[in-house]
Amino acid sequence: MENNKTFTMIKPDAVANGHIGGILEKIIKSGFKIVAMKYISLSAEKAGEFYSVHKERPFYKDLVAFMSSGPIVAAILEKDNAIEDYRKLIGATDPSKAEPGTIRNLFAKSIDANAVHGSDSDENAKIEGDFFFSAFERF
Ligand code: ATP
Ligand code: MG
Repeated sequence: MENNKTFTMIKPDAVANGHIGGILEKIIKSGFKIVAMKYISLSAEKAGEFYSVHKERPFYKDLVAFMSSGPIVAAILEKDNAIEDYRKLIGATDPSKAEPGTIRNLFAKSIDANAVHGSDSDENAKIEGDFFFSAFERF
């Protein structure tokens, strides 16, 4: 399986707080190429499907409500070692633990409103990218 792609979302909090531009600038300056991108709103059903791996977790309901609360930017990114490098760029899930200069350190306020999503494996990057994009929407 290829290991040069990851999938990201700029979450509703970061969109609402005016951080789309700042986050995209960080992504591009860090050497990621944008393969696909769209600005959309997830229904609760779609958000629930996307995060279904977390179905049994106590925060699942809040996570689904939050992810369907406003528009998001979804994108496929390309770079060597994409998964690991992007997780490094976004920082820890809890922004108070994210390294200085990371996207969550700069743009996120709390563990539930944490600005961005990043895939955790090559397998999930493919599943998540395919969830949002057809072959005609990739460049
Ligand atoms: P993401 O998948 O969004 O990139 P992550 O991989 O860093 O984040 P996961 O463990 O996959 O973290 O959790 C998915 C999302 O669920 C987190 O981004 C966060 O918004 C939310 N979440 C995770 N843990 C908690 C928690 N303990 N309390 C509230 N929300 C949480
Ligand atoms: Mg995750």
